[in-house]
Amino acid sequence: PPLPLVVLDPGHGGKDPGAIGVSGTYEKHVALAAAQELQRQLMRAGRCRVALTRGRDVFIPLQDRVAIAQRQGARLFMSLHADALADPGVRGASVYTLSDTASDAQTAALARRENSADRFGGPSFRDMPPAIASILGSLVRQETRSGSVRIARNVVGSLGSGVGLLTHPSRHAGFMVLRAADIPSVLVEMGFMSNPQDEAALRRPDHRARVARCAARSR
Ligand code: ZN
Repeated sequence: PPLPLVVLDPGHGGKDPGAIGVSGTYEKHVALAAAQELQRQLMRAGRCRVALTRGRDVFIPLQDRVAIAQRQGARLFMSLHADALADPGVRGASVYTLSDTASDAQTAALARRENSADRFGGPSFRDMPPAIASILGSLVRQETRSGSVRIARNVVGSLGSGVGLLTHPSRHAGFMVLRAADIPSVLVEMGFMSNPQDEAALRRPDHRARVARCAARSR
């Protein structure tokens, strides 16, 4: 059988630069460089296949990123970011999983819409009676979420020994790009563009290689 597929998702791209660092670094470039480095390391280890949602500087809507992973039958989806925060003093890596508990009304409405539409539901349930499809769907979602949390814990543990962590480094929110019902998904903030040290570190290939080693090891 073919090796399991990991889909890496470099955040942003094209017309969306993502966060812009204090010295002008674009998050989209750092995210792509880090994803390509992680891809190299994972391929070298030879335990999985690796695909990227984007291998160049192009804009891809969030739902399309999820769709790419689903179309290819990914077993793990990892989105790579280095966003900005209002407080330039905050630095370190952190890992995010999807959560039902939304932080505000807008996010709650978004989640409701997403969940009821079930656009990313498992295609294998399409021919079943709705009640059964709904039960199976919720079992798959539960399993996916616990898989996501487990992977996030591993990545946090691994990053903690290799690069600096944010306080409370395991966090959750209604990230749309993590909404695949059937693929364990995590979003890694490798650091923050709003912090001068993090930005400078993420510009360096050796630092990105260290982040990638941690992420690769954590599987
Ligand atoms: Zn981002």
